[in-house]
Amino acid sequence: MTRLLLLGSGELGREVALEAARLGVEVVAADRYDDAPAMRVTPHRRVLDMTDPDALTALVREVQPDLVVPEVEALATEALLALEEAGQRVVPTARATRLTMDREGIRRLAAEELGLPTSPYRFAATPEEYLAAVEAVGVPCVVKPVMSSSGKGQSTVAPGDDPMAAWTYAREGARVQGRPVIVEGFVDFAYEVTLLTVRHAGGVTVCPPVGHVQVSGDYRESWQPHPMSAAALARGEQVARTVVDALGGHGLFGVELFVTAADEVLFSEVSPRPHDTGMVTMVSQPTSEFALHVRAVLGLPVRADDVAVAVPSASAVVLGTERGVPSYEGLEEALAVPTAQVRVFGKPTSHPGRRLAVALAQGDTVEQARERAREAAAAVRVRVG
Ligand code: AMP
Repeated sequence: MTRLLLLGSGELGREVALEAARLGVEVVAADRYDDAPAMRVTPHRRVLDMTDPDALTALVREVQPDLVVPEVEALATEALLALEEAGQRVVPTARATRLTMDREGIRRLAAEELGLPTSPYRFAATPEEYLAAVEAVGVPCVVKPVMSSSGKGQSTVAPGDDPMAAWTYAREGARVQGRPVIVEGFVDFAYEVTLLTVRHAGGVTVCPPVGHVQVSGDYRESWQPHPMSAAALARGEQVARTVVDALGGHGLFGVELFVTAADEVLFSEVSPRPHDTGMVTMVSQPTSEFALHVRAVLGLPVRADDVAVAVPSASAVVLGTERGVPSYEGLEEALAVPTAQVRVFGKPTSHPGRRLAVALAQGDTVEQARERAREAAAAVRVRVG
């Protein structure tokens, strides 16, 4: 039996675990806290600090997986590099997890090595460097810790603002203290999309574009397909192929792009694993992003019909508002919405802004699918005990 060690057991990891189990794979779910969503769907769990290289190495040696599948960014990636060197398979590659755990690695690869268009940017490690970076990039600009996700520590400096507020916010919101920040030119995009791109034994397959809305850098709604001009789609697919080929290995990647009113396509970032905005694929595509990831890493085929979106579909998130142990009401109302489905992640605790569930729906149009998903999500009420 193939054994897969999942490093990160959140809602995305849970879907990967379920899809792997469906193909007869044994899944060991690891995370820094107990009772994480993926742990609740497999009998094998491990709780450890995955940013500790010794603890991570000991875990891999103990579990002896065929595949190490990272599902979060916050990992001791240097340990993964050493394990890969010693013959351990890491998905998609240890180098890809290393480069994408930090905004600097992937931005420099995309813009400086691959020559892809991005927003202007500078990195800064001290207040002096930071003020010089804001000056060079110009305002408005977006300031983010190099290591963060879900919008943590991210803010915009508008003309007339004191830029130091964004510096302090980024330093406080960083996952790892003392690391630089990135200052990016603010892109006044017409829309942003994720191109879910699978690198598999038979080549590269790009899913139809996923459109999304972010609030404070965190995803709230997504839908598929998002309309794009033929020219923008062709450029976007080219960017996606270039990035995934440079990162290498097999698996599904979430390539995030900004598209301007002039149809200019800018690379923003990439996850070497299923993407949160891709949760919509649980209802939109015959084969979800999670199933595609598992197929690709097992060396199984990915067909064009796996990613054919027959009906416009959407997702909308349910967020916690208070701290405590969550329970859910309103599922009857949510599931009375035509085509709606709800996935409750089963997180052991709630806190304000924590993603706890997602509603999914289809429609005759993207607008109708979005309305239905929003309505179903709004019907779910989180109670804390
Ligand atoms: P990120 O964590 O880099 O994906 O950023 C989260 C979200 O913040 C993006 O999906 C955009 O909606 C917004 N954002 C990030 N960077 C920029 C930028 N340079 N210009 C405009 N919006 C941005």
